[in-house]
Amino acid sequence: LLEIEGVWKFYHRHSVLRGIDLSVDSHEVVCLIGASGSGKSTLLRCVNLLETVDDGAIHLDGAEITDVRADPDDVRKRIGMVFQAYNLFPSMTVLSNITLAPRKAHGVGRAEAEERARELLARFGLADKAEAYPDRLSGGQQQRVAIIRALATRPRLLLLDEVTSALDPALVGEVLEIIRELKDTGMTMVLATHEMGLARDIADKVCFLDGGVLLEQGTPEQIFTDPREPRTREFLSRVL
Ligand code: ATP
Ligand code: MG
Repeated sequence: LLEIEGVWKFYHRHSVLRGIDLSVDSHEVVCLIGASGSGKSTLLRCVNLLETVDDGAIHLDGAEITDVRADPDDVRKRIGMVFQAYNLFPSMTVLSNITLAPRKAHGVGRAEAEERARELLARFGLADKAEAYPDRLSGGQQQRVAIIRALATRPRLLLLDEVTSALDPALVGEVLEIIRELKDTGMTMVLATHEMGLARDIADKVCFLDGGVLLEQGTPEQIFTDPREPRTREFLSRVL
């Protein structure tokens, strides 16, 4: 579904991604782990074309999205992204937050967009929050709405960047539950996370980034119990 080939990214003359190769199959869940500054967010932003890549290529569904002729709006229609800070529009109700992109970018009619939104809210236990404004919700609820909003356009691929790290520990569980449920429904996801428990629990593949290099990738079992690279071992001994 997603092929990242030899991707380099520079800020000024400083390289932050150094020849990343990664492929993600349909229904696969890939977790990016690594120290702060290792390039996890930058890689996700490159996939969503929020950053331009300086070398290499990214393909989605067989088409090169990093091609200069690719339309970023069209690419983003097929990718959902959720950030650490949930970024809900504060002046809009939950329902309006969720239906905005389907209506404006995808041309879905209001009635259908609202019906789909209410279905998603019900599925994730937020049916009674449709008319609420974001500041009336807990952090965990806001993040669940942000995930629902990303799902409302029925993306092929969901990118999640530290979606639990701004949350009170007590609220992390309800967001993790959504992610697990999405995995069960076959959603293809790439997550950057500091939660090793989450990576171990839901990843099909764990990728360790170190200074912009994808140093090692493997099953959670392999990475967490028998990492090949000394740098991976060192990182895990610090965070586990
Ligand atoms: P964290 O775990 O803290 O979220 P990360 O792995 O997501 O870290 P990135 O945010 O991708 O790391 O940052 C990778 C490197 O790129 C860092 O050295 C960072 O300072 C640098 N960087 C990121 N964005 C920019 C920018 N807009 N301009 C200049 N440098 C940047
Ligand atoms: Mg980051």
